[in-house]
Amino acid sequence: MARYTEALCRVCRREGEKLLLKGDRCYTDKCAVERRKYPPGQHGQGYRKLSDYGVQLREKQKVRHIYGILERQFRRYFYEADRRKGITGEVLLQLLETRLDNIVYRMGFAADRRKARQFVSHGHFLVNGKKVNIPSYTVKGGDIVEVKESSRDIPEIVDSLSKAEHRGIPPWIELDSANMRGKVLHIPSREEIQLPIQEQLIIELYSK
Ligand code: SF4
Repeated sequence: MARYTEALCRVCRREGEKLLLKGDRCYTDKCAVERRKYPPGQHGQGYRKLSDYGVQLREKQKVRHIYGILERQFRRYFYEADRRKGITGEVLLQLLETRLDNIVYRMGFAADRRKARQFVSHGHFLVNGKKVNIPSYTVKGGDIVEVKESSRDIPEIVDSLSKAEHRGIPPWIELDSANMRGKVLHIPSREEIQLPIQEQLIIELYSK
């Protein structure tokens, strides 16, 4: 499976924002964005003014990095969102939020989305009682996601779950941490997807 391999903190520093790509480290004072408030690289002591196209491109890259998705797959999400009823930008974010790896992360079973993707690929999760090992699997409102019985003592999952409340569980998810299971109450609205994203910029970029 193709994946993005650039140093994660460099990505945040280039965007000038905390994208929370590195689990618990992101919540400490070791965060690179907190320590070095300038872009990475030799010439990166300040943020350059970007053209309109540059701003749109950066926003798209930011969202790709947040969800850990490669360009081709991201574009497919855009086309799917464009095809569906509703506001394209909102639908796009809903499609990304309801990926199984993101749901596992949102429920607190993994410290970040990369880890969540790995856990899902390794077959540690059930959706409505059936094993699903496809990170891009789309979860629906009312679905139950749980850690497989034989995976419930994996230290990384146990540890992550113990910190879930600290990271925050979104209101559209109900977590039963004692039973290592969660329910997606409904598909989140745009207001409930609390990410600093200007999705309109992405729509403008792809509509050229
Ligand atoms: Fe980004 Fe986390 Fe690295 Fe901070 S610690 S720069 S939020 S990946």
